[in-house]
Amino acid sequence: MNIAEFDPDISHALNRELTRQQNGLEMIPSENFVSPAVLEALGSIATNKYAEGYPGKRYYGGCHEIDVIEQLAIDRAKALFDAEHVNVQPLSGAPANLAAYVALVPPGGTILGMDLSHGGHLTHGHPVTHIAKVWNFINYKTTPEGLIDYEEIERMAREHKPNLILVGYSGYSREIDYARIKTIADEVGALTMADMAHIAGLIAAGEMNNPVPIFDIVTTTTHKTLRGPRGGMILCKKEHRKAVDKAVFPGLQGGPHENVIAAKAIAFKEAALPEFKLYAQQIKKNAKVLESVFNERGYKLMFGGTDNHLLLMDVTPKGATGQQAEIALDKAGITVNKNMIPDDPRSPMDPSGIRLGTPAVTTRGMKEEEMKQIGAWMDEAIVAWQDDTKLESIRQEVKAFTSNFPLYQNLTY
Ligand SMILES: *Cc1c(COP(=O)(O)O)cnc(C)c1O
Repeated sequence: MNIAEFDPDISHALNRELTRQQNGLEMIPSENFVSPAVLEALGSIATNKYAEGYPGKRYYGGCHEIDVIEQLAIDRAKALFDAEHVNVQPLSGAPANLAAYVALVPPGGTILGMDLSHGGHLTHGHPVTHIAKVWNFINYKTTPEGLIDYEEIERMAREHKPNLILVGYSGYSREIDYARIKTIADEVGALTMADMAHIAGLIAAGEMNNPVPIFDIVTTTTHKTLRGPRGGMILCKKEHRKAVDKAVFPGLQGGPHENVIAAKAIAFKEAALPEFKLYAQQIKKNAKVLESVFNERGYKLMFGGTDNHLLLMDVTPKGATGQQAEIALDKAGITVNKNMIPDDPRSPMDPSGIRLGTPAVTTRGMKEEEMKQIGAWMDEAIVAWQDDTKLESIRQEVKAFTSNFPLYQNLTY
């Protein structure tokens, strides 16, 4: 029995969500659209199998084919990122980060990471998280010009002697000098961790610096620019293999989600193709077009612009707050998220900025010309945030425009 027959309530919600995805412009930089093959693997019978342990060392019988699947995912990820060891079991980005800390830092140990409002992630030690009670997080910030402050990191590393120095961000749009961080860490005897959750796809394609050969440990999600299923992954040096595997299972998790791991394996195969390199290049070109559109139209871009897939910008010069801009854009069929800007004077629920990115619209086949149109609509919607008639007319234009970039044709639930 299919969903529509058995559960019309869920079927209805799924179909409406599909229509929302098809008719709107997805500009949230952490979102993407997976391929039909990835979607198929997620819904596969691999979900039925318990497989606690690792390939060849399981606590359950009947794992032969599951081992084949998980080993393929591991081997492909190792090749894609030039890694010595990979664990593909973390359920998502946050559990991957938790496992990395458990593996490398004793409770009470010190971790030096980026401040949330300067582009860091909640899991990098924000006071609202439980992990901030377990480890001692200290935060560095960007410079007033908006770049990573390597000198400040060096000064703080010398002063606090952290166990771990952490880079890799959710809101930062510039390249990272991993070799420089490694030099600082070596001087103070710290281990190095990069969280490449946002930019893993760009790194896989060779379009951004790869921390994996340089750093001790690298965590990532698989569902952002990497365009795989919702999930996490840890890549590390051989000497951390045992600690990482033990931290994930049995340290923190139970049975791995092998349907998701099958989907990860497929996504890694896709990411190794020449088409994926072109995709990553187009993501960056599209972000650059939006950068110039918003510069011309008087927005204040954080970090001076972008080297990757995302833009963080202050919308208050245009007479709206981040919250007002997010709601107005939603009414216009364009999805973004409100976001704090560095040292934001406003609150997290109504900050000064919005964060936007190009991975999802690039997957739909949109290029430079389309970005100019999208940037114009976004500006018009933000300026007209109180004018529902204008926002509705943009939404109609957006709907007609997106119908030229089909998504999951013939799919229905
Ligand atoms: C998205 C993200 C995470 C968390 O991933 P989830 O899958 O949402 O748990 C962690 N770190 C960074 C830098 C991220 O961007």
